[in-house]
Amino acid sequence: MKNNEIQGGLHKSVINWYPGHMKNRYNEWVENIMWDWCISRQRYFGVPFPVWYCKECGEPVFARKEDLPVNPLVDSPKVDKCPKCGCTEFVPETDVMDTWATSSVTPLINMRYGEKDNYEDILKPMSLRTNASEIIRTWDFYTIVKSFYHFGGRPWDNVMISGFVMADKGQKISKSKGNSKVEPLSLINQYSADVIRYWAGSGRLGTDIIYSEETLQRGRKLVNKIWNVSKFIEMHLQDYEDREFSNYEYIDKWILGKFQEMEKGFLKYLDDYEVGLALNHLEKFFWNFCDNYIEIVKHRLYRPEEFGEEARYSGQKSVYTLLYKLLQDFSIYFPFITEEIYQELYHEKQSIHLTEIKELNNNFDKEMKLGDQIVEVIGLARGEKTNHNVSLKTPISLLELEVTKELKNAIECSMQDFKATLFIENIHMSLIDCNYHVKNIELELE
Ligand SMILES: [Zn+2]
Repeated sequence: MKNNEIQGGLHKSVINWYPGHMKNRYNEWVENIMWDWCISRQRYFGVPFPVWYCKECGEPVFARKEDLPVNPLVDSPKVDKCPKCGCTEFVPETDVMDTWATSSVTPLINMRYGEKDNYEDILKPMSLRTNASEIIRTWDFYTIVKSFYHFGGRPWDNVMISGFVMADKGQKISKSKGNSKVEPLSLINQYSADVIRYWAGSGRLGTDIIYSEETLQRGRKLVNKIWNVSKFIEMHLQDYEDREFSNYEYIDKWILGKFQEMEKGFLKYLDDYEVGLALNHLEKFFWNFCDNYIEIVKHRLYRPEEFGEEARYSGQKSVYTLLYKLLQDFSIYFPFITEEIYQELYHEKQSIHLTEIKELNNNFDKEMKLGDQIVEVIGLARGEKTNHNVSLKTPISLLELEVTKELKNAIECSMQDFKATLFIENIHMSLIDCNYHVKNIELELE
């Protein structure tokens, strides 16, 4: 950032609140303030005021700047006598500063304000403050007050407000109630830190989340699936060498296009600090990737003699690319497992957390739309097998479809994948103007 931009920015006071309605809480507080800010507290812990008082006349004597920090309960003033009455005895200040008096200068502390090697140029204003909603009127408010007092500008550009973790609906977790179901450390032992992060990151911004075993189980299932699918992909990348390639199979274009679209939305959510919505969006794609795409592409990966080396390479390149990108996107939530897999598969010398997310830039709109329909047809045919209580490997002796011209063309382009996934022996497609319809499925039942 250039210096003049920072200078210019200082005079702007607009802070972006995420979620936006939290700004109302701030405004309501500021507009209804009825009293002064009492910055002293009568308790033991806290930053001491560097002040003594003359025992005779009460004149305050302040520590010199170069003598700070000073604790008046321990240290003596650097003057021999009261400048007003000449008395030589002093009484130390026993109050300490209000918590928010010091917390309100956290941006200054972090930019090493007033120190020789400070970061004022790059950290003024800071980009982000995160805290829960209950301290908007304390930590946020006082920090803003102090920033305007010292610099005449905002302390940060953005504020991200989270909710609380609740024991149950409307019930705060508290020690006295004994409703903190599990201690954090034993939770981590039981589920792993990645899974705990999944649960903690699952809420909507600014909204309370409930302690939920169900969410933890879902997180565990997801982490396991990431591990298992990575192992599967690794198995098929033993002879893989990354090179320029554009001759993708139809279904590969479909999933690459779907990922590209998903990641755009994912990054948009992150830009709005909606980590929970971003996770949800990513997770939904990932299950589609595993349940549908991997189920299709695996035949091609296993049997190059049947599908051809080029078609296999298309699948390899797709899974190589997508797993890398999925690991990057998931790494925010699962820093440990993603790093482990990344180091194992991509043999990079740096951490995944230092990689840059580069969006894919393909134009696979047609394949995305028709690929969805192909996957739906596959789902219907597999459902038919499940209804008959037979294995998904049961051959379909005849599949009759009514399809649009577009979909017929798409199925023909992905015919090998389509037939292999459903174990189809014969397929017949007749044309209709819109939609599609599975007219007849003949299973080869024993
Ligand atoms: Zn005095």
